[in-house]
Amino acid sequence: MTCKGKLIIILLGPPGAGKGTQAKLIENKYNIPHISTGDILRDAIDKNSTLGKNANDYMHKGELVPDDLVFDLIKERVENPDCKYGALFDGFPRNLAQAKMLMNIQYVKQSKNFFVFLINISDDEAIRRLSNRRYCPKCKSIYNLIHKIPERKKNGIYLCDNCGTELIIRDDDKVETIKNRLKVYHESAEHMINFFKELSVLHIITNSIEQDVFRDITRIIEAESTLEKD
Ligand code: ADP
Ligand code: ZN
Repeated sequence: MTCKGKLIIILLGPPGAGKGTQAKLIENKYNIPHISTGDILRDAIDKNSTLGKNANDYMHKGELVPDDLVFDLIKERVENPDCKYGALFDGFPRNLAQAKMLMNIQYVKQSKNFFVFLINISDDEAIRRLSNRRYCPKCKSIYNLIHKIPERKKNGIYLCDNCGTELIIRDDDKVETIKNRLKVYHESAEHMINFFKELSVLHIITNSIEQDVFRDITRIIEAESTLEKD
C-alpha cells in the first residue's frame, strides 16, 4: 500500500493495551516507521546519553518524562527521511500539551490522512497483561506468558525465540509501577482524548483481541483515507 499524501497514525490506550503489537502490524502493512517514545527513551538510557540521564528517574517511577524533552525528541525524529510518507506514533502524545504540540507541527498539518485510534482495555486486564510481560533486552522482542509464550527455558528463565537472550521483566512492569502508570494514564489521557474527539479524528476500538483490533484499524484507514493499492 502506498500513500497519496502522508499517513499519520496515533495509537492511544492504557499501558498493556497492545499498542506495540498493533504498531508492528501497521508498520508492515503501510510502510511507515513506528515511533515509540518509550523505546527511544529506553535506548537513550541504555546509551547513557544526556536524554537518557534526564529521563531515567521519571521512567523508573512510571511518571511521565517532562514534555519539553519529548517535544525535542519528536521534532528531531520526524525530520528523518524515513518519515517522508508518514509515521506511526506509539506512546506519544501522552497528555493534552503533547497533543496540542503535535497538531501544531508543520509535519502533521500537511497530512490529509490523520488517524487517532484509542484501544480501550480495563485496568484489571492491563495489570494481568503487563505483569505477565517479558522483554528481550537485546533485540527488544516482547513476550507474554499468557498468550505469547517463549519456546525455550534455561534454568527456569525464558529465552528469546529470536536471539536466545534471557528474558527480563522490565522495571516498569513490576506491579507497583504498573499501578502508578495506570494512575498517570487516567490523569493525563482524558483531556487529550476529548481534544481529539473534538477534532473528529478519534476512533475508539473496543475489541481487545489482537487480530480483531488490527482488522478494525485497517478497515477504518481504508474506508477513510486517500491511500492507493500498489
Ligand atoms: P507504556 O505505554 O506501556 O507505559 P512506554 O514504553 O510507552 O510504555 O513508556 C514507558 C515510560 O516512558 C513511561 O512510563 C514514561 O515514563 C516514558 N514516556 C514514554 N513516552 C512518553 C511521553 N510521550 N511523554 C512522557 N513520558 C513518556
Ligand atoms: Zn531477543
